Amino acid sequence: MSELLGDRKITVRMGVYSDDGEELDMERRFDRARLAERKLRNSYETRFNFYNAELHSKELHAERLINDMEQALAEKQFRVYYQPKYNIQGTKPVLTSAEALVRWFHPEFGMVSPGEFIPVFEKNGLIQQLDRYVWNEAAAKIAEWHRTFGFYLPVSVNVSRVDVFNPQLGDILCEIADRNGLSAENLLLEITESAYTDNSRQIIDTVSALRSRGFRIEMDDFGCGYSSLNMLTSLPIDALKLDMNFIRNICTDKKAYKLVAIMMDIAKLLEVPVIAEGVEIREQMDLLKDLGCDIIQGYYFSKPLPAEDFDKLLTAEREAKEHAYN
Ligand code: C2E
Ligand code: CA
Ligand code: CA
Repeated sequence: MSELLGDRKITVRMGVYSDDGEELDMERRFDRARLAERKLRNSYETRFNFYNAELHSKELHAERLINDMEQALAEKQFRVYYQPKYNIQGTKPVLTSAEALVRWFHPEFGMVSPGEFIPVFEKNGLIQQLDRYVWNEAAAKIAEWHRTFGFYLPVSVNVSRVDVFNPQLGDILCEIADRNGLSAENLLLEITESAYTDNSRQIIDTVSALRSRGFRIEMDDFGCGYSSLNMLTSLPIDALKLDMNFIRNICTDKKAYKLVAIMMDIAKLLEVPVIAEGVEIREQMDLLKDLGCDIIQGYYFSKPLPAEDFDKLLTAEREAKEHAYN
């Protein structure tokens, strides 16, 4: 063995499930052991882990979310919130678009955040149904705002890595846009960077096809997914969205600041605009503006808002514009 491996070291991680008289089929036992093992992925000190009560209650909670999902869709327990994005390169920030972010108002658990249920639905494919619901809601909102305010405000929707494998993705999105009287460029598509690194060939093909039908693609969570710099130049994208972890310390940590500056240079090289999300304070915005960042999204301007509150924001925008012209 050591001859075959040369200097390479192999470490074995073990997940252990001990059955306490529970009657489970082999597959579920194995799943539980694997769940325990997965908790060790980023740990180099511990080699084995037991399936325990905490993992068990998480598993039960996830199962509950999965079981409740279909009824929740039918009863419209999922609601889409909208967070504005502003272009900051002029003298005054200008509202340019919004991001659609889903929330679940569960009858028993109250508001459940997407951080909790999206990963669960991504694992079993249910995310495709939910995403389609959100895209429909967002498209209907864009059309409604157009009727009320007289302009199309583009909305970006999240496209899960799972959606990318659906050969009908382009048709589904086009049908939604058509049915709501929108053109493809009204719906911006956010795809996380790590989806690109998971399966770059597939995603490049999918994204190229979407772009040729008029959709614009924003690469979400940029800086987190470890794209190879080499690969970046061949990626078909229309904007880079910096991961918010880079923004957090930009005012206090010189290295964080420099990293953001480097990412801005990468965007310049790719000739795409940069969106910074998670901007909470004025100082962060000022630094980003100086660095040439085009668009900002974050609590500094607004939290994600229920549609009714976003209506008010648009009304205020319209009034401010009318004042500016008078
Ligand atoms: P994301 O796409 O990176 O979305 C940005 C997250 O940052 C949102 O969390 C947003 O509420 C939060 N955020 C915005 N501004 C600030 C800020 O200034 N400070 C801080 N600390 N946070 C801020 P949220 O809504 O909880 O969503 C979490 C993640 O869930 C999203 O991350 C996205 O990956 C996923 N997600 C949300 N809605 C959908 C959806 O409809 N479909 C899919 N596939 N994923 C979704
Ligand atoms: Ca996003
Ligand atoms: Ca993000």
